[in-house]
Amino acid sequence: MHAILELAKKKTVIFDGAMGTMLMAAGLKAGESPELWNIEKPSLVAEIHRQYCEAGSDAVHTNTFGCNAVKLANRGLAEETEKINVEAARLAREACPAGKFVAGDIGPTGKLLKPLGDLVIEEAEEAFFRQAQALVKGGVDVVSIETMFSLQEALAALRAAKKLGDVTVIASLTFNRTKKGFFTMMGEGVKQAVSAFEEAGADVIASNCSLGSRDMIDLTKELRAATRRPVLVQPNAGKPETQKGVTFYRQTPAEFAQDCREIRSSGADMIGGCCGTNPEFIRCLVHALGNFP
Ligand SMILES: [Zn+2]
Repeated sequence: MHAILELAKKKTVIFDGAMGTMLMAAGLKAGESPELWNIEKPSLVAEIHRQYCEAGSDAVHTNTFGCNAVKLANRGLAEETEKINVEAARLAREACPAGKFVAGDIGPTGKLLKPLGDLVIEEAEEAFFRQAQALVKGGVDVVSIETMFSLQEALAALRAAKKLGDVTVIASLTFNRTKKGFFTMMGEGVKQAVSAFEEAGADVIASNCSLGSRDMIDLTKELRAATRRPVLVQPNAGKPETQKGVTFYRQTPAEFAQDCREIRSSGADMIGGCCGTNPEFIRCLVHALGNFP
């Protein structure tokens, strides 16, 4: 069993918070490539990893959310897939003190699969395979598939990562809350998603993004009821609001941390933050859980 799964038996494993939010605070402009910062501004990315480790994160995500070849092609960077992922993994590894875990972040392609869109599943799977391979080559401990709005696309990424052999994989979907319960954008429910993830070999069942910490409490209960595998939950900092075209989150770190206590008592083994969270949220979370490093 991987050491991060062993740790989850002893304590709540704390993940990091948002990367995008922090990159923007560090000066990333709208339309600029966050992926290229791994090559061009590695010290700024490393500093974000360090801040999360200092705040008490046991694990951090690499800055590779958009680093699959399908998405990088939008910026003419498909050929750089391996280089960017290897460098991102290395710099996270170097930034983190010994004993912390580095999760190789795999996000969606940004395209819809056939028949809704024009992306064929084999192309998606190949892109995810190349990314996962490069992340592992760069030294990540686990692969973390995140912010997937489509179960089919998440499964393509999961199969791709599992093709590498003995790799621990976290599989996360993004759910929305409706009157009938929690569903992905593609209409997949919690039980359906969890059983598909288990069948495809996911080591950790997860959900992140879209929902704030209040709604994540109820989703955690459903995830817990559907699986015996470790569960990772990463809420946003409440509901996003927009003012003059800028998205922001009103929730305070203390409110987030209080909800996360309920997320833990509802059955989450691992907790982190998504959009709008920062190292202060993680620091409050660690304190609220009485879960010091
Ligand atoms: Zn998010």
